[in-house]
Amino acid sequence: MTDSQRTVQLAKGIETTASFVEEHVKMYKEFHRAPELSSEEHRTAESIEARLDELGIEHFRSGGTGVVGLLTNGEGPVVGFRADTDGLPIAEETGLDYASTATGTLPDGKEAPTMHGCGHDTHITAALAAAQYLSESRDAWHGTVVFIFQPGEETAWGAKAMVDDGLWDKAPRPEVVLAQHVMPLQAGKFWLRPGNMASLADSWRVTVRGRQAHGSQPENSLDPIVAAASMVMRLQTIVSRELAPMTPAVVTVGTFHAGLKENIIPETAEFSLNVRTPDEEVRAKVLSSIRRIVAAEAQASGIGEPGIVEINRFPRLFNDAEHTVRATKALEAGFGEGSVISAPLGMGSEDAGWLGDAIGVPVVFWSFGAFADQAFADGASPAGNHSPQFAPDAELSVINGTGAALAVLLEYLGK
Ligand code: ZN
Ligand code: ZN
Repeated sequence: MTDSQRTVQLAKGIETTASFVEEHVKMYKEFHRAPELSSEEHRTAESIEARLDELGIEHFRSGGTGVVGLLTNGEGPVVGFRADTDGLPIAEETGLDYASTATGTLPDGKEAPTMHGCGHDTHITAALAAAQYLSESRDAWHGTVVFIFQPGEETAWGAKAMVDDGLWDKAPRPEVVLAQHVMPLQAGKFWLRPGNMASLADSWRVTVRGRQAHGSQPENSLDPIVAAASMVMRLQTIVSRELAPMTPAVVTVGTFHAGLKENIIPETAEFSLNVRTPDEEVRAKVLSSIRRIVAAEAQASGIGEPGIVEINRFPRLFNDAEHTVRATKALEAGFGEGSVISAPLGMGSEDAGWLGDAIGVPVVFWSFGAFADQAFADGASPAGNHSPQFAPDAELSVINGTGAALAVLLEYLGK
């Protein structure tokens, strides 16, 4: 037996050859080198389509750069599997020999370096590898997998765009939508729990319009900087004074821009904020408080009501209890007792949930580790998602991402 035919275990009971892993590590590095920004995933989509063609898997576009692959193997259960495909505007600093040097164009027209800084390249590769494995082992399963290669996750745009573009009119309705995400966890470990896996998120831009005047003549101005500064300070009281102490919520003002020169009171000030909430009720409460405070502070400053524009909105990501039990059982069978850790409560956001919620289908989302044990030696931890140093291990990503995908898919589709 040559080395390339050596058996590699993707998960317990799911085996492949070393050359299968090598081929997908190579594919992963190619995706890693060529990240594209949200809703600009044109070459990425074409690469995915080319691969699906090689595997003989029927596919169609949805939501512009979204690709849906339909792998059918006779009658049987239908399962959706989501892999997001977008990169981020980050200058990569991993020092890897396959690091990205690519650039992309931001919505405002600015050129930016791009990086697969959230590991979506591991998701694409794992989904394509699972598709190949399943298409080559048809005796082991039956049914249909709807592979959803979703663009624009980082801007909360893609899941909605695919659904609005008729994803579920063209693909069969699944009994569950599965999705996974690489995280700074040891290879072979998973985060999963029922209920909220991420928070709802809303981003808004607020434009405060006053009256411009010479810096020496405040009496002729309506100062938008002072008004906007009061808004920013008062917004801090929503979480601390209006919500119960155990309610997890965040209101962050992430940008604040006004003025060009110290002796000119400008006409406008603009800030943007990001809100994280655990459910629709808290969300509605926090957003209405923001509107109230912005309007009231404008009134207190004697200026007109500021403009508020929604930048993006992340829906809930809610793990169905029954299907979470099934996925946990499958992952523990594949990776051993104790491999599934109850996910820590965080305020990250994800739009995968909408792929199921939009049609009333349950969703299960888990995180998988793809880092070697030594990355955690002596209490260290590897750089996390969105860091310029985020660097999952290529081979561990392929093995564990594909193994997890197959373990849970075969739980539903296995004979
Ligand atoms: Zn991300
Ligand atoms: Zn991500």
